[in-house]
Amino acid sequence: MAAESEYNAWFQSIHDPNERYQVDEVVYRAKDGALLEVVHDKDALRKTSAQEWKDLFRARNQVNQFPFGSGVWGKKEWVLPNIRNENVVSMFEGHTNLFWAERYGNGLGLDDLWIKQCGNTHTGSFKDLGMTVLVSMVKEMIARGKQLPAIACASTGDTSAALSAYAAAAGIPAVVFLPRGKVSVAQLIQPVANGAIVFALDTDFDGCMEIVQEISQKDGIYLANSMNSLRIEGQKTVGIEIVEQFDWEVPDWIVIPGGNLGNVSALAKGFDLMIDLGLVTKRPRIVCAQAEAANPLYLSYQKGFEVFEPIAARPTIANAIQIGNPVSIDKAISALKRYNGIQIGNPVSIDKAISALKRYNGIVEQASEGEIADACAGADRTGLFNCPHTGVALAAMEKLVKSGTIAKGERVVVLSTAHGLKFVDFKVRYHEMKLEGAGSQYANPPIELPASYGTVRDEMLRQIDQRFSG
Ligand SMILES: *Cc1c(COP(=O)(O)O)cnc(C)c1O
Repeated sequence: MAAESEYNAWFQSIHDPNERYQVDEVVYRAKDGALLEVVHDKDALRKTSAQEWKDLFRARNQVNQFPFGSGVWGKKEWVLPNIRNENVVSMFEGHTNLFWAERYGNGLGLDDLWIKQCGNTHTGSFKDLGMTVLVSMVKEMIARGKQLPAIACASTGDTSAALSAYAAAAGIPAVVFLPRGKVSVAQLIQPVANGAIVFALDTDFDGCMEIVQEISQKDGIYLANSMNSLRIEGQKTVGIEIVEQFDWEVPDWIVIPGGNLGNVSALAKGFDLMIDLGLVTKRPRIVCAQAEAANPLYLSYQKGFEVFEPIAARPTIANAIQIGNPVSIDKAISALKRYNGIQIGNPVSIDKAISALKRYNGIVEQASEGEIADACAGADRTGLFNCPHTGVALAAMEKLVKSGTIAKGERVVVLSTAHGLKFVDFKVRYHEMKLEGAGSQYANPPIELPASYGTVRDEMLRQIDQRFSG
């Protein structure tokens, strides 16, 4: 890709630094099946001082000058420097708020707990951060004359919502493959509303992934799943944004839920670049949280990451991270050969995630369905409105506080990955006490009474007394 700025970035195999591709090439994996990553010309970036980068990012903060007001494109030089601004497809994603979870934290004995609300964004999940980069690159490629009839993905719900919105904004056809009956109503209706070609297939996520890969190989449809490392470049801005929000102070802990493990790798990649360029000197400790029902990384962590054994992911309320990884077919097997087997329950970014966790003295924790539901509901009681994936991270964090691993005075950031409004079905079941595996200890069903003043008043006073006394 012709350099239009003094900066440059390219795809590079995570196994072989000499295997490189231009970022406008249609390539998803290295020759040996390894994942690619976007690598930046750090010498060029170093010509700007750490303080100058901080000042530049701050100055662009939410300005209306397209596309720099976006949390992702405000850091364009670090993300995808050589894309023309006119081809950027942005909804001013990023810049999500940090919720100071004072009451929730106090209840746990933490003084300094924050929730990064990545779900407060256009399509309601952090997937927007990566999709803006991927769809922009496709628009740029089409402008340069590449024949790309559509962009497609298999999805557990949020990737397809993000793809559909950005593709619709760009006027590029989107095709999404969803496992029939396995995504929430909100997740299904988003691509429908945005005019994507929506296939609900009688299979699970794995089955959808197989179809989309075949279609991308045989029919030249551009693949938007997370082995596409363009998405990681956008997602990596989240860690930079968190630190920026704390005036460039690095928190002690960041807790993040993991399924395909792209996001935890992205988080670490953003920190790596900040450290490389001198913006910060400390690394946070990263906790990757998994649902017990889909915990291959947790099991590997238990064995010191010496072995990785794929598992068949079981159903979980955290449906976006119920990954029995289909992406890692043939090519992935050779890429991931140091972990035998590899077909099901194999997160696509396992290599990157493990190396990220090692660099960050990382921890993997798991949570049961009941723990997830109660963590969500307990935190909701303090003003949050959590999605179940955020619940996985909250439950893991609560366990690490209880075990003393996370200490009272430490600054903890939990990454909330989606908006709770996308997952009301599970909340309804929880509060109806119909959620399997959950004790529903915070169930708060509406109180049904005849419309009579005396009866209502008596019950109301009883409730106030019961809930808010002491
Ligand atoms: C995609 C997704 C995740 C998992 O992210 P990975 O990069 O696959 O680990 C977690 N939570 C939500 C809400 C998601 O949409």
